[in-house]
Amino acid sequence: MSNLDLNYPASYYAASANVHPEYPRLEGDIDCDVCIIGAGYTGLSAALHLLERGVDVVVLEQARVGWGASGRNGGQIVNSYSRDIDVIERTAGNRIAEQLGAMAFEGGRIIRELVERYSIQCDLKDGGVFAALNGKQMTELEHQKALWERYGYDKLELLDANGIGGVVASKRYVGGMLDHGGGHIHPLNLALGEAEAVRKLGGQIFERSEAIAISREEQPIVVTKGGSVRAKTLVIAGNAYLGGLVPELKAKSMPCGTQVIATEPLGDDLAKALIPQDYCIEDCNYLLDYYRLSADKRLLYGGGVVYGARDPQDIERLVRPKMLKTFPQLEAVKIEYRWTGNFLMTLSRLPQVGMLDDNILYSQGCSGHGVTYTHLAGRLLSERILGDSKRFDAFAALKHYPFPGGHLLQAPFSAIGAWYYSMRDRLGV
Ligand SMILES: Cc1cc2nc3c(=O)[nH]c(=O)nc-3n(C[C@H](O)[C@H](O)[C@H](O)COP(=O)(O)OP(=O)(O)OC[C@H]3O[C@@H](n4cnc5c(N)ncnc54)[C@H](O)[C@@H]3O)c2cc1C
Repeated sequence: MSNLDLNYPASYYAASANVHPEYPRLEGDIDCDVCIIGAGYTGLSAALHLLERGVDVVVLEQARVGWGASGRNGGQIVNSYSRDIDVIERTAGNRIAEQLGAMAFEGGRIIRELVERYSIQCDLKDGGVFAALNGKQMTELEHQKALWERYGYDKLELLDANGIGGVVASKRYVGGMLDHGGGHIHPLNLALGEAEAVRKLGGQIFERSEAIAISREEQPIVVTKGGSVRAKTLVIAGNAYLGGLVPELKAKSMPCGTQVIATEPLGDDLAKALIPQDYCIEDCNYLLDYYRLSADKRLLYGGGVVYGARDPQDIERLVRPKMLKTFPQLEAVKIEYRWTGNFLMTLSRLPQVGMLDDNILYSQGCSGHGVTYTHLAGRLLSERILGDSKRFDAFAALKHYPFPGGHLLQAPFSAIGAWYYSMRDRLGV
């Protein structure tokens, strides 16, 4: 059993969440077609795709809907994957790359479809910018544009020094690339809206119902403190918060923390001066900064990867200097919220998708860029459960690398960083 605080963290998102119900705890033993562990985007998207096809679904959440990364993230709708399609071409071959490339822009479309179909109020805005800090990164963006266009995507626009100056009032950048198919959302309200849609379609969500054991039988049984769910199929979507429930999944991934701060409301004039078109922005560093305006004109600024930074002052000390480096003009602006969240890193930085048994499926480890991928993952999981495995199998064909050393490597990220980078370079991934 975990010792996690099961309430929402004191984030800007929790403070501005739409009115939402508290879902019951699971009490007693029930049966269903598909049981899903985790009410983040992966689990909720899978649930919605299944419910839309008449499948009977139960979602078990140890805390609250969107309590994990899905309700804490930067809210940036970023297309493709944490490693781009050229890396997949090199490591998995052209056939798999073609299949994954064809799906690289689908997650963003799924989000927009769900928002529209279920009238989800989540402050959806179009347009995301990749900002280059130097000439090398600008060249990489040119390469990325050509790559994505090769896979049929035509919503990109390169920005020169002048162009980037027109979308973000920071002197740090030499150029950038605007993705008109990117954008941003209030992440927790997206998750809450998806949960509400699950409920309306007849799905059952149980909060504060941690899966504490899985009995792998012909029909898997998931045990919680108050009851159990027997299902024809089980989907594991606990990602970075799954802990040790499934040792095989823990062994090949590593939770990493990243932190976000939210300023006080800046007012219309200052907000418009900073990011005139209200795009979201991320820079091109490996340990990137990501930021955007909220609907009430705060700057939400995230950055860095520090395993397990939990103390609020610590978070502000880590992230505020990054914000001021980008926007020195915000020196006098107060920080009103700070929070941390965990995403799940894999060695290849590509998602891990697969089956534990014939009737237990999982998807995890989108390594930092998961808002779009997780929505795609939900669709792929549902396709596989409904008997069409082609696209699921394309992801499942990606190689999974273990994190050798087990618990040792659950140590602070910084301590293993050197090893991680050298390993990644040696693998050429
Ligand atoms: C601070 C932060 C900023 C980020 N910013 C961005 C961004 O701007 N753009 C982007 O694309 N990606 C971003 N990401 C990554 C993105 O948020 C994640 O990839 C994505 O939300 C993962 O969704 P998920 O459903 O797989 O996992 P989660 O949202 O973490 O959901 C997993 C759920 O499973 C539950 N769970 C786990 N174990 C159990 C159990 N045993 N029983 C019951 N329930 C269980 C957890 O409580 C949790 O609610 C960010 C991540 C963080 C942490």
